[in-house]
Order: sequence, then C-alpha cells, then structure tokens
Amino acid sequence: MQNLSNPDNHIDSDVENAITAKGLTKTYQASGNQSEKKALKNVDLEIPRGMIFGLLGPNGAGKSTFINILAGLVIKSAGNASIWGFDIDENPRMARASIGVVPQEINFDPFFTPLESLDLQAGLYGVPSKQRRSMEILETLGLGDKANAYSRTLSGGMRRRLLIAKALVHQPPILVLDEPTAGVDIELRHQLWTYVRALNEQGVTIVLTTHYLEEAQALCDRIAIIDHGELVICDDTPKLLNLLDSKTLLLRPDTTLSEVPAGLESYHAVLQSDGRLALTFNPSEKTALQVLDEVRHKNISITDLETEGTNLEAVFMKLTGNQNLPAEAE
Ligand code: ADP
Ligand code: MG
Repeated sequence: MQNLSNPDNHIDSDVENAITAKGLTKTYQASGNQSEKKALKNVDLEIPRGMIFGLLGPNGAGKSTFINILAGLVIKSAGNASIWGFDIDENPRMARASIGVVPQEINFDPFFTPLESLDLQAGLYGVPSKQRRSMEILETLGLGDKANAYSRTLSGGMRRRLLIAKALVHQPPILVLDEPTAGVDIELRHQLWTYVRALNEQGVTIVLTTHYLEEAQALCDRIAIIDHGELVICDDTPKLLNLLDSKTLLLRPDTTLSEVPAGLESYHAVLQSDGRLALTFNPSEKTALQVLDEVRHKNISITDLETEGTNLEAVFMKLTGNQNLPAEAE
C-alpha cells in the first residue's frame, strides 16, 4: 500500500487529540409539522490521534449530526469543537483542511472516471496540480486499474472505495466515515474494514459512526456510545467489554431436557430452542470448568460445550436499556 502521509498536511504536528468537542449541542428548529428536535445534548468528547474511533448508537442517536458539525455541514447550536487543534469557528479553513468526510448519503457522479472525480475534488479543495496524488490514492484503495473507467461501471464496493478516495484528496490526517457499511453485505463490509485498517496503519486517525455493534467491536480501538443525543460512555473497547463481568457457557446435554434442571438458578439458566442449556457466570468468581462440574453433579451428561464472552450488545443493553438496541448487522 502507498503511504499517503504528507509533511505538508500537518500530520506531524504535535496535537494529542484529533478531535475535541466540548458541550456540543444541536437543536434542529421546528419546521412544518415537525417539532423542535434536540439532536445533540452537551456532548464532551476527545478523540485521540492515531486511533480507529467508533461513534456507536441506534438510528436517530445524533451520530450524523455530530459528524456534520465537524464537516461544516450543520451549524451547531452551542459548544465548541476543534479539529487537529483548529477551532471550527476561529479557524474554519484549517479545521476543514484537516478532515476528510465520507458522508452517509452516497453522492456520486456517474459520468466521470475515478481519476476525473478525484481531480475535481482536489480542485475544490485547492490542492495544486503538482501536489495531487490521485493515482496513488486510487491505488491505495485498490482502484488503480479502474482509474479511467466510468464510475457508473464500478461495483458497489468500488463506489464506496471511490468515496473514501475522494475524502482523501487533500491528504487530511483525519478520515471520518459516516456509516461506511450500512446496508452492505458481509463480504464488502470486511473488505472495507481492511482498507480502513490499512489507512489507520499509515497514520490516519479514523472516526466512524455505526449502528452495528459487531463493526464497532471488530474495528475500533475506542468506542463512544451515543443515545438520544447524549454521550452514554466512552472507553477503550476491551474496557467497555469488561464492564460486564459475565460469560455464558452453552452446554448440549446428551438427552433432551424438558425444563431447566433445579439448582441452577444462580446461573440464570435458560433452555434454548436448540436444546442447549445457557448458563451465565462471572469469570472473576468462577471458571467455566467449575460451572461444568456443578452441572455434571446433577447427573446431566454433556456432549458439547461452548463459551461466549461479553459482547457489546450486552454492554449496550446494560447502559441504555433494551428499548434502544441497535439493529444487528444483516
Ligand atoms: P443518526 O445519524 O445517529 O442516525 P442523526 O444525527 O441523523 O442521527 O439525527 C438525530 C436526530 O435529529 C434524529 O431524531 C433526526 O430525525 C433529527 N434530525 C436530523 N437532521 C435533521 C434536520 N435537518 N432537521 C430536523 N431534524 C433532524
Ligand atoms: Mg446517521
């Protein structure tokens, strides 16, 4: 992969946080039959440079509003934000030069080739011709051999990568992706993750929004959960997962059980529809083997077993209540 970092793009500056938001608030004004909407409520957030940072929350949580304020597309109602150390009000030009945003809505011109699209975008950002690295950027995103093809002939995955390429023409140190994999199939999702990781390894700070728990868990070093416009929690992914000191042991008995055996109440035992017995325990108090022994003492023979760690879904439910459980990846 090509290295896209450029000494002129402030990537070597000594900022600690790629993005800082303080008291960020957005109230959309009432219009027509829509009442006023508080989309962001006093959000304080620091996104350290160098990370893959996830902004996770259900639809309508305020993720795009947050991103669009940073991108200069939505005007905040209150609070402050800075990008790469540049306040978005005091130094909007430098703030905008420091960030590349891939919007949630796909905007896309079918009549240009990828190379033309990138050159056009570079022109919009005032990148001088001799500093343009359109071909390198296309190659980085695996589109080198499509540089001169009409964009309308590109596959869905290639179009998504072209949008990322467009956001990179001014070689920003921060790349923001708003729901990069919403509605895409698993294969394409994993492919996009590979490109995101590779860009991050080159030193680009990545901020992405997602309503897929699985995506945040797989990709992000740190996750902020946002719900109803409020920041619920922000922590390193492993620490978030440790919040719930709980594991599940799935056991397949050799005979079909008609009900949960007595004496397993402390494990919140559940008989699943697939016939397996699910027992939940705290790994800091017990090992899976100890739990297994207790079950064996009830004269139940086990033919197969599996353990499941805490997942982000459980953390999310604990923090926000079941009502707001995000949709699972399809
Ligand atoms: P997310 O990206 O997390 O799905 P959004 O930031 O798009 O959430 O929206 C947050 C809330 O603000 C939602 O209730 C949405 O309906 C509302 N909203 C978003 N954009 C506008 C707008 N332009 N005018 C009025 N309300 C809006
Ligand atoms: Mg959104």
